[in-house]
Order: sequence, then structure tokens, then C-alpha cells
Amino acid sequence: MEKTGRGKEKSLSGVSRRDVLKIMGAGAIYTFLPGEGHGGSPGGEGLIFVVGDGMPLGVIKGMHQIRTRVYGDKGTNFYSKMKDVHSNLGYMSTESLSSIVTDSAPASVAWSTGSKTLNRALASLPDGRPLKTIMELLKEQGYACGLVTTTRVTHATPAAWVSHQMQRDDEDAIAIDYLRFKPEILLGGGSRFFDPSRRKDGNDLFKAFSDGGYDVVRERVNLLSTETLSSSKPLLGVFNSSHMSYYLDRLNQSELGKREPALPEMTRIALQKLSRNPKGFVLQVEAGRIDHANHSNDAWAAILDTHELDLTLAVIDEFVKVNPKTLVIITSDHGNSGWGINGTGPEYNDSTEALKKYQPIKASFEVIKARLKKETTPAEIKDIFEHFTTFRITDEEASMIQAAMQPDYKPFHGDYVIQPDAVMGMILAHSTYPKMKGVSIEGPSLVRRGNVGFTSTNHTGEDQILLSYGYKAKQLGLHRHVDNTYLFSAMCEFFGIKYKNPTMTEEEAKPFIKTASLEEWKRHMELHVA
Ligand SMILES: [Zn+2]
Repeated sequence: MEKTGRGKEKSLSGVSRRDVLKIMGAGAIYTFLPGEGHGGSPGGEGLIFVVGDGMPLGVIKGMHQIRTRVYGDKGTNFYSKMKDVHSNLGYMSTESLSSIVTDSAPASVAWSTGSKTLNRALASLPDGRPLKTIMELLKEQGYACGLVTTTRVTHATPAAWVSHQMQRDDEDAIAIDYLRFKPEILLGGGSRFFDPSRRKDGNDLFKAFSDGGYDVVRERVNLLSTETLSSSKPLLGVFNSSHMSYYLDRLNQSELGKREPALPEMTRIALQKLSRNPKGFVLQVEAGRIDHANHSNDAWAAILDTHELDLTLAVIDEFVKVNPKTLVIITSDHGNSGWGINGTGPEYNDSTEALKKYQPIKASFEVIKARLKKETTPAEIKDIFEHFTTFRITDEEASMIQAAMQPDYKPFHGDYVIQPDAVMGMILAHSTYPKMKGVSIEGPSLVRRGNVGFTSTNHTGEDQILLSYGYKAKQLGLHRHVDNTYLFSAMCEFFGIKYKNPTMTEEEAKPFIKTASLEEWKRHMELHVA
């Protein structure tokens, strides 16, 4: 499991390793006691469903390479679990009813209901018929239900386990769906959909949850308090008005790290509270912003959010050791942006060094972009970029970033629609060599930066990892290639539930597919990542 280096304190984006472990709550805050949660009784089954949103294999591998080659870790939790003979490793196809490239809504609906639907729809068929979710089925039987994410809690991946809205962007309505459903644990970002001054209907959902018997927390310190831990009430915690900050930014801006809890911390509290239910529990844990970093072609933010998920796996492992009737399923809902570590230099021999070049970067593109305005000059852009990345870019490159911020900018080709992010990602993946002949290069690099290349700023259609282990894992057929809808069947089998939702075919779904206008699509993408 998580090894803490070999004595040397390698800097993780300017923060010492010891600080990181402190931030992550890796060990110290509360430990799981044997039998905890089941009141000393043998206890019911628990299912922990872990999602790296938009987490293709490339970013898992990139995280593993950085951890083992830069920080000196012996391994990562992902890889030790993938290699374990007790684990099952498979692949999963992800297409929706409207597209071979899914968005998170129908991907999560496929898991939660066993039925496919259209992009953007929560637990409903394309014609509006609601689908019963695994969480609803389990709640009826007395299981405790929890959702933990680094996105807004009202975002598609968690929402698809509870809400039947046809449009994932109706987050005001989704917050009310949670109030009706009453999950025992709901942790993440998105306070603006609970706040009376931000909601369109002016309703105070914080008060409504509180009146409904919830503990409501807004700061990390309150989440980690002994009062919150010992309370037997259900728990709502929202720690940012929108998505929670990237792990990269929480590490580098101490005020963010103080206010917003880390994913391992939220997971630990959720498991401690949910496992008190003698019947058992289901918990979805989502590292939801790996997807956003990839949309932005921000390799380093994506690697660090994947690292945070890897640290979360250590917390889960600690829990499973003392609660052996727990099944863990780890997957991703779709690919994103064609994440690839490009071969670099003559015979690709510079590839390892190039990947390591992301390490000094101290802010996500989200933070860098907040410092840039359309009037910012190329000279100022050079300084700002150097301040956060340490790389001194050329005048020409600064002008490219500036051009990409103008309202009339046309992306260089195809699908690099998130700007200036995609231009910044490309600049950071660029090295130059003294001798060039056609596409061949020779000699030591003149400029050495990173080497993560992206094919677009969009989701991609390749199969995703499916890793499972723990209680009954070997019996559920998860060791092979499956369709994403199969995960619903596997979860039902795990809990001994017999239930089948209605389904529609691609042909039957066609009349219900609506194409968004240019403005709508733009708004969808903005709402999605920001
Ligand atoms: Zn996405």
C-alpha cells in the first residue's frame, strides 16, 4: 500500500511529503477499528463504488510513473491492486444510446440502473420513463447510502444514482431530489444549489436539510470535528460554491487546503458513518475533476487528482481490512481527450525526462486562467506563465495564448474547444532540438518541457478500466470485458436483489435525440468544467 518514500522528502509541487500525508489524513486522524460500524455484530455487506471521472489508462499510468520515478514511491495503490491475484481486472465499454462517446450522465445511469439512455439524461429512459436506481433499491431495504465527490454534489455522476431529471444541468432541481431521497452522506462541492441567494427559487436548502435532521457542514474543520464524527444524524457537507478545487491547487494554496477537505478524508468519514448501519451500505466515491483537468488538457492537474484518488484507495483498503464483507469496484465512466505520454527525442529516449518536467508546476490552468484577461499582453502572459509553471515561454507562444483568449478565436483544428487551456497544454508538451530533418530530430534538447499530448478537449470513446476486489468479487463476472450496464447486474447480485429496468434500443431512442444549439452546447461545456 501507500509507501511514504525512502526517507528523502521529495517536494510535491512545493509541499513536503509529510505535509501531504497530513493533509490526506493518511493514518492519523481516525483509524478504523475492527468491527467498527457494525455495532460489534457481524454486519451487513458494504459496497464502495469508486469512479475516476474521465480517467483513461494514460493518466493512471502517468500518475504511477511520476510517483515511482520522481517521488521514489515503491508503487501505487492502483498498481498494487491491479497486480494482486485476489483482484479482478477487466474492461468496460461506455457508449450511450445517443453516441459512441458518452457523457457522465448516461454512463452513471448505466451503472445505477442497468439501462442505457441519452447523453445528458439522469435515471430516465429517453422517452422520460423513470428508471429505478440501485441506490433506491438499497435504501428501501434499509441500507445506508452515501455519495462523495470532488465535483458539485449535484453533478451527473453522483446525481444519476438518485435523480431522474432529463437534463443533468438542472442542478437546482437535483439538490431538491437529494432532499427527498435523503442519502445518509452527501459530500462535495456545489453550495450554490443549496444557498437561497443563489438558487432560482430562493429556497434555503441548507435550512431544509437541517430541518430534515441533517448535520450540515461547510468547512473542512467542521467535517473533521469529533461532534460530526460521533453524531448519528445524516450528513450534508459542501465545501465550495462550485466544484472543489483541484488537489494541485489545494496543495499549493494553504487557505484552500484548510477550507476544503481532501477526498481521502471525506471517504474516511463517510465509511465510518455509513458502516454503523447494521444492514450494510453503498457508497459512491468520485474523483470527479480528473475529467475537468483532461478537458483542459492540463496534464499535471489530472495527474495530481488521480494521485488523490490513489491515496483514497489506501483509506478504502484500511477499511476493507477490518470490514471484510466489503466489495470495492473501481472504474471510469469514459475516456477524455486522448491522454497520451508521447515518445520524445531521438529513439524516444527523452520521454522519461520529459514527463518529469511537469513536476515544478504549482497551479492548475484554472488558477492560471483566472489571472489572464483578454487585454493581458504577451509580455505579462510570459511572466504569469513562468510564475506558475517555471517555464519561460517564447514571445510567439505567449501570443498564441493571448490569441486563444479572444472571443473570435478559432481553435487550430478540430475539437480543441476549451481555450486558452488547450494552447497552454500544447505549449507545455513541447520540446525543441538543434537538428531537424523532416520529422526526425538529433542531439540534446534545446528546450525541454513535458510530453503529454491530447487529441481534443472532449470525451473519448475507448473502453475503461474495471478493477474489483473484496467480498464476493470473484463471483460477479467482473474479470473480463463487460458493458457498463453489467455493473448494475453485478451490484444486484452482490446484494441479492432481483430487479430489471425497462430498456430502449438505439433505434427506439433516435426520435428523442435533440441537438443542442451552439449557445446551449457552449453553456453545457462551461457548466461542465467550471
Ligand atoms: Zn467531462
